[in-house]
Amino acid sequence: MTSHEVINPATGMPVSTVHGASVEEVDAAIARARSAFPAWAGVTPGDRARLLRRFADAVDADGEHLADLEVANAGHTIGNARWEAGNARDVIEYYAAAPERLFGRQIPVAGGIDVTFREPLGAVGVIVPWNFPMPIAAWGFAPALAAGNTVVLKPAELTPLTALRLGELARDAGIPEDVFQVVTGKGSIVGQRLVDHPDVRKIVFTGSTEVGRSVMVGAAAHMKRITLELGGKSANVVFADADLEQAAATAPYAVFDNAGQDCCARSRILVERSAHDRFLALLEPAVKGVRVGDPTLVETEMGPLISAAHREKVASYVPDGAPVAFRGHAPDGPGFWFPPTVLAPVAVDDRAFVEEIFGPVVLVVPFDDEADAIRIANDSPYGLSGSIWTQNVGRALRVARGIEAGNLSINSHSSVRYWTPFGGFKQSGLGRELGPDALDAFTDVKNVFISS
Ligand code: NAD
Repeated sequence: MTSHEVINPATGMPVSTVHGASVEEVDAAIARARSAFPAWAGVTPGDRARLLRRFADAVDADGEHLADLEVANAGHTIGNARWEAGNARDVIEYYAAAPERLFGRQIPVAGGIDVTFREPLGAVGVIVPWNFPMPIAAWGFAPALAAGNTVVLKPAELTPLTALRLGELARDAGIPEDVFQVVTGKGSIVGQRLVDHPDVRKIVFTGSTEVGRSVMVGAAAHMKRITLELGGKSANVVFADADLEQAAATAPYAVFDNAGQDCCARSRILVERSAHDRFLALLEPAVKGVRVGDPTLVETEMGPLISAAHREKVASYVPDGAPVAFRGHAPDGPGFWFPPTVLAPVAVDDRAFVEEIFGPVVLVVPFDDEADAIRIANDSPYGLSGSIWTQNVGRALRVARGIEAGNLSINSHSSVRYWTPFGGFKQSGLGRELGPDALDAFTDVKNVFISS
């Protein structure tokens, strides 16, 4: 048996100690999830919906507490953490409407009637990273439960506190404890066992592309269903005809939100050459104006990085002599702080331009025309999100169709709404979460022919 100390990244001080489950404990949780499955799948749609609505209400009532836990555990700003708790509530509420609407089809055939059913899969493992612990957990477990599956949720080692609280709230709402279990511990033990165990029928994994690849390989042994949400290196493409003031004022928040620890971070800014210098001039005060500091204060816009080790990794992309165009401010002293940093000029084969940094570092490069912008944006193994700034509607659509990414926004930076699909192209993932699409990932279609 092991345990793990949870650290507040804004202070470096311990917050709590959390149990690290053994393989035997994971096996026991999977066995419970498996035996709870038939009864949960058999709960009438109306009752399953009612239990999920109660769960959403419990999350709503506990929202401020959940947000405080995330501020202390992940260093998220209180504003972000409140949004995240609200997002978890909304996602549960949205999928609470699914049990009565999991329609099959009736397909015309000769000699009888043909109908389809959407059957739940069984026990589902949901493996979550540390960057958005609450929303990402809910994106997996809410549609899984709504479709009639049981869930074993494994939070990241660094950020288990809100997942544990969500587990308690589900129980308080009346969801049986074996239907939704939270198992804390190491990825190499708990996560790996969920991937390898034959009785786990599906894995929802959000995290790095490297571990995602190993999940895919492991899942193949049992032909296990998988949804993968992985890394990103998204482009923010700014054309000269855009509202440059607006594009520059919002660009910092599209990459420095959550201290850049966001899979959708627009960490490559591509600017049409004729507007490049003016854009940089407008970007500088916007970056310097980002309020970095104590995440418990409502006015704070950016908190610390998650850990000392992660700060070291981020810093490796800004070595001495790196082309820092300008940077914002960050507190000194305890905590894992890193200032918002803009690198320019950089070559498009620079390591910082190619790899996911997952910190508050953005690179600005010029492009010549639409085709060049699309070429640079697509010159990446990733394809998660991105933004396009232009006042020309035709160009906006051409570029949106040309960029290989799952979530694009035009003249805005929004990526995620709980009722629209979210996921990656290329090595950013497989499958879609959120919106109506997610339910397909938690059911298998059964076709039944009735002779008449
Ligand atoms: P990670 O891959 O190190 O860990 C993710 C989760 O997997 C953790 O819970 C970890 O304990 C577990 N894990 C580790 N090894 C495992 C194994 N062998 N088998 C099964 N599970 C294992 O990622 P991270 O550092 O926690 O998160 C950062 C990464 O997540 C970034 O690359 C980021 O882009 C990505 N991310 C993607 C999305 C998206 O929706 N596309 C969202 C958030 C984060």
